[in-house]
Amino acid sequence: MSWASKLVKPYRVEDGKKFRLKDFDPGDTGQLHSKEHAEELLQRGIASMAELQDKLYAQDRWGVLIIFQAMDAAGKDGAIKHVMSGVNPQGCQVYSFKVPSAEDLDHDFLWRTNRLLPERGRIGIFNRSYYEEVLVARVHPEILQNERIPAPLVTKDIWKERFDDINGCEKYLTRNGIVTRKFFLHLSKKEQKRRFLERLEKPEKNWKFSAADLREREHWDDYMKAYEDMIVQTATEHSPWYVIPADNKWFTRLVVAAAIVETLEDLKLAYPKVGPEKRKELEAARASLEAKK
Ligand code: ATP
Ligand code: MG
Repeated sequence: MSWASKLVKPYRVEDGKKFRLKDFDPGDTGQLHSKEHAEELLQRGIASMAELQDKLYAQDRWGVLIIFQAMDAAGKDGAIKHVMSGVNPQGCQVYSFKVPSAEDLDHDFLWRTNRLLPERGRIGIFNRSYYEEVLVARVHPEILQNERIPAPLVTKDIWKERFDDINGCEKYLTRNGIVTRKFFLHLSKKEQKRRFLERLEKPEKNWKFSAADLREREHWDDYMKAYEDMIVQTATEHSPWYVIPADNKWFTRLVVAAAIVETLEDLKLAYPKVGPEKRKELEAARASLEAKK
């Protein structure tokens, strides 16, 4: 088992049925003895990721979809920025999903994300995703009401149906060579308060503060219930959730990097093989280059 797989093992959930959020500690920092050690490993992770991504792109067969979900101030943006710092921007696409537009609402709930799925050879990152449809839409029933779904279809089974549809969609993607990995950055309510206060106090962080975030905080327990059920219902072997401790950013970033490295390693990527035909072509090209001035 690689160092990356070892490091992420405690946070990988592939059998939702046994999952309980209370078994996971947002303040966990694993077996690491120091921040410096973590930084060293992070750099190693970023370097491996760059190498693996180069192969992913060259091979042009697999696609990788990485989904980030979290409460506000859990560090999604920072994790994406740091962890992807080493990869070739041409091979990576990041999309953020905010409140749906009128056009989005005129379609089925997977429409807006399906259009932006990663191509083969690429890593696609979703900062929020269709999972909002079983999180914010569950915590705020009025959101569901505004979705313009025909009334007879909105029954008490709607969440179960959405989970089925999500699982079906992820299975479909897996069977097509688009691998899905889902990251929940698990922040404590206490650490969120500390980060919000910091946003209020530090001028360079003021821009990040939003009163809406405070309102969502009021629904903390409902969100935790929704997150737990989401993971119970959608963590599978082919499309696992990683429940990543988010109270220490340095640890969050390391686990995110390691999980991406693990995902790419599992694909057994390799540069395309040069066959006899191509070999001849290369030899001829070399001879021609060398023969002329
Ligand atoms: P940041 O605050 O770091 O810029 P963010 O992802 O929090 O990033 P915001 O614009 O603050 O961006 O918030 C986006 C909001 O959109 C969130 O409150 C989220 O719940 C909401 N949202 C996302 N998808 C949906 C959806 N399908 N239905 C309803 N609301 C959604
Ligand atoms: Mg926000």
